[in-house]
Order: sequence, then structure tokens, then C-alpha cells
Amino acid sequence: MYKEDYYKVLEIPRNASQDEIQMAYRRLVKEHHPDKKGGDSVRIKEINEAYETLKNPNKRLRYDLLNPVEEEETEINLEGLEESATYEPISQEAIRIGFGFDVHPLVSYKKLFLGGIEISHAYGLAAHSDGDVVLHALCDALLGAIGEDDIGHHFPDTNPEYKDASSVLLLQQVAEILQKRGYRPSNVDIVILAEKPKLAPYFPKMKEKISKILEIGEDRIGVKATTNQGLGYIGKKEGLAAYAIATVLPTRRI
Ligand SMILES: [Zn+2]
Repeated sequence: MYKEDYYKVLEIPRNASQDEIQMAYRRLVKEHHPDKKGGDSVRIKEINEAYETLKNPNKRLRYDLLNPVEEEETEINLEGLEESATYEPISQEAIRIGFGFDVHPLVSYKKLFLGGIEISHAYGLAAHSDGDVVLHALCDALLGAIGEDDIGHHFPDTNPEYKDASSVLLLQQVAEILQKRGYRPSNVDIVILAEKPKLAPYFPKMKEKISKILEIGEDRIGVKATTNQGLGYIGKKEGLAAYAIATVLPTRRI
């Protein structure tokens, strides 16, 4: 089955958004497999697979789900699939870049979380949430890329819901905002400013975490750290800070 055919089967226009693709797929599964069991998690996996397939024409869709009726009529032609695969060009204007910065004071009464990972350290970051400067800077970079207000606006520190909240939840919600606006993260790069502790051993876990939340490969995530050479509030170990930059791409053709 060719990529074009998926759009036909799903009865959606070629420039359908991720939401439209997901809804169409859900409708299709419901229509042809009303008895399909397995819970939402199975279904979500399939829906995501459908979306991934439409984004990447080299991938093949689960046609056993798409194609349960009129099987004789629909021939699955895998021959030449690769040759037929063409990536839609993305206009340069559609690529967006965002930048974020965050800082919190170090205190002895909190645990330290950076990049969604608990770091072994005698100090943590004072904040309404867990104070994860890495994820906060990253959220702001992603929000900034699509012209949204910063995380302080989206997740105000007056809201008890976010009291001591894991910033992983905030990043997940930012990813959803991006998706709703028709964008997806392409790559991110982060610099952490910390005099102590040594953070390099935690980078692989941070990348893994961010990769799962943003649904991008770990090779699209840069994480590095630097000390401040003893200078200023970072150097005096009064606080930790992070910078982040992110590029995002549209999920539909622009
Ligand atoms: Zn913050």
C-alpha cells in the first residue's frame, strides 16, 4: 500500500493534522473493529503508529487494522514502496526556534531534580514545583518557538496543582500544547550552569527521559554542563541555571 492510499483509507486530506489523523484512525478502528479489546493503551499505540507512518512514508501501516473489509479488492503492493516514498519539503519559514532560561536558588530542604532525573546532592532547588531548571528552560524554549507565553503563564505558581509538581508533567503538557498547535519538536540543546555536582554521569538518563516525553530520538537532544569558574551566584553555589534552545517543525504541510 502506498502512502497516498493511507490518506484515502483514512478519508483525510493530505495535509491533515496529527489530531485529524488520529481521529480518523480511531474512527476507522471503531467502525471495523467494534469488538476490538485491549484497552486504550493498545489503541493509542496503534494510533501513534498510524501517525508515524503518515509522517514517514518508509514505514508501513498496520493494514490488518485498516483493511479488514473488502480484502480481495484492496491489494497491498509493497513493491516499489521505497521508490515511491517522497518526503514533503518543509518550507524554511515553517521551521521555528525558541530559547529558554531558568534559575532557582539552592536550598538544603529540597531534593535536586535536573532534566527529570533525581540528582544525588545535598541541595535542591527552591521553587513552587520541583525547581527543575533544565525542564523549565526547555519548556520555555518550546513555548517560545510557537509564540506562546512562558511556563509561568501556563502553570502559575499560585496554582496548588503545581505545588512540588514534577516538572516532567509540565514538559508533557507543553508537548501537548505544541501538538495542538500543529507543531512537533525537532531538536533541543541544553546548557546547565552548576558549580557542583558533576552532572555528566546523569546526561544519558536525562536524554532518555526527554526523548520519551518529546518523542524525538536521543541524538536530537543535546545536554551539557559548565561551571561558572567560581564567579557570581552560580560560582558561589547559591543557585543553578539552565539555557535551552529548541527547533520545532509543523506536523502539517505549510
Ligand atoms: Zn523554574
